Amino acid sequence: MEEYKVLKVLGEGSFGRVLLVHHGIGDQKYAMKEIRLPMSSSGIENSRKEADLLAKMKHPNIVAYKESFEADGHLYIVMEYCDDGDLMQKIKHRRGNLFPEDMILHWFVQMCLAVKHIHDKRVLHRDIKSKNIFLTQNGKVKLGDFGSAHLLAHPMSFACTYVGTPYYVPPEIWESMPYNNKSDIWSLGCILYELCTLKHPFQANSWKHLILQICKGSYNPLPSHYSYELHYLIKQMFKRNPQDRPSASTILSRGCLTKLIKNCLPSEVIKEFEQVLKDTKKHEGSAARRKGSVMAGGSSNNRKENRRREDESSNRSPLERKNITEGLSEGTKEQRKSEQEGDIDLSPVHRRQWEERISNTVLDVLENASLLSSSFTPEETESGGVINYCEKKPRKQWNKETPRTLMNILTNADVSLAFKTYTIYKPALYDGL
Ligand code: ADP
Ligand code: MG
Repeated sequence: MEEYKVLKVLGEGSFGRVLLVHHGIGDQKYAMKEIRLPMSSSGIENSRKEADLLAKMKHPNIVAYKESFEADGHLYIVMEYCDDGDLMQKIKHRRGNLFPEDMILHWFVQMCLAVKHIHDKRVLHRDIKSKNIFLTQNGKVKLGDFGSAHLLAHPMSFACTYVGTPYYVPPEIWESMPYNNKSDIWSLGCILYELCTLKHPFQANSWKHLILQICKGSYNPLPSHYSYELHYLIKQMFKRNPQDRPSASTILSRGCLTKLIKNCLPSEVIKEFEQVLKDTKKHEGSAARRKGSVMAGGSSNNRKENRRREDESSNRSPLERKNITEGLSEGTKEQRKSEQEGDIDLSPVHRRQWEERISNTVLDVLENASLLSSSFTPEETESGGVINYCEKKPRKQWNKETPRTLMNILTNADVSLAFKTYTIYKPALYDGL
């Protein structure tokens, strides 16, 4: 600790502070996150998780870990200092002046590379938002704040308890469905949308409407001067069914981004990386053909199913229809993507449940199931306000509330608090934490 001289406070949050420090040896500046350690040993373990997970990540687009240590009841995580603020500030400073597309793609490709890296390591970030994307003056983008990240037990796992920022939380969380890497993709889609419009995709003046907007997946279209590629990416990343969303690898294998990767990665890894992306594309293509031919023949049940899907597809947008006619029915595509993209292929029973529940059930879920918990204390509950993690206390675990009470609280709560990070408990039906 003595080797570090504190220069200023960079940020303050629920956990403690982030300090700009100077390290005498090597004459370098670093960001040092100071986290108050909770009393319980499980709480301490949980705090250490952030340092452990960050230490595992080594990528030019992820904030680099230097070291961590404990002193005076605090955990200190020393990391690379990002000297150009965060993406949220950048968006605010534009004052309505839209970013040019090449700048958006330059940032977006770096975020995708970071997300691909963590997902390859089975880590879910769970709090991807423009405030957690840090920038450096030489134009680099760095994914930071691993305080909510979670390591999945194995590549096909789902996780239950969710930590996230409501504005960026995908529908599956509100619909009481399990989540995996595709939930981070939704949040990444929110950032891409913010970069294109300088606004959040899901606007509402109450929590209830915010959650409904998210679950409907309805957002205003992008300004028309942006390319088809950007429109297409947003549409894919905001698919309500997580299995329909592309993985970070699939996004990166799109032509418009592949070209940009060269500017982001060190030359020695570019070739290998491009090969991985080519394989991703090839694998997708051959899986599509294989599945296509199976579906073309098949039993009468299969044919009925195909007809049903064709009927459904007549209600779809031209883009969705295009995806289907490119060789696959929606169901087959889900299966293919699951195989391809490392997310779990849900059992048919489970998938049906998702499809049945996707409609208007979200408020039923919120009202009838005790899946949500909140950061409210009992007094706060009575007064009906949402209390954000307060600065001097460790991040609160959300107490279990009766669903009705919770819905009432959300009705009265200030929706601007939905930009903060919360923990949402979910029943451990699949793979608990
Ligand atoms: P929190 O859990 O409170 O969101 P963060 O890790 O996001 O914690 O840090 C809080 C703030 O501190 C960030 O929003 C950012 O302004 C600043 N910060 C964190 N890490 C860095 C860094 N590596 N370089 C520069 N600023 C940082
Ligand atoms: Mg943060």
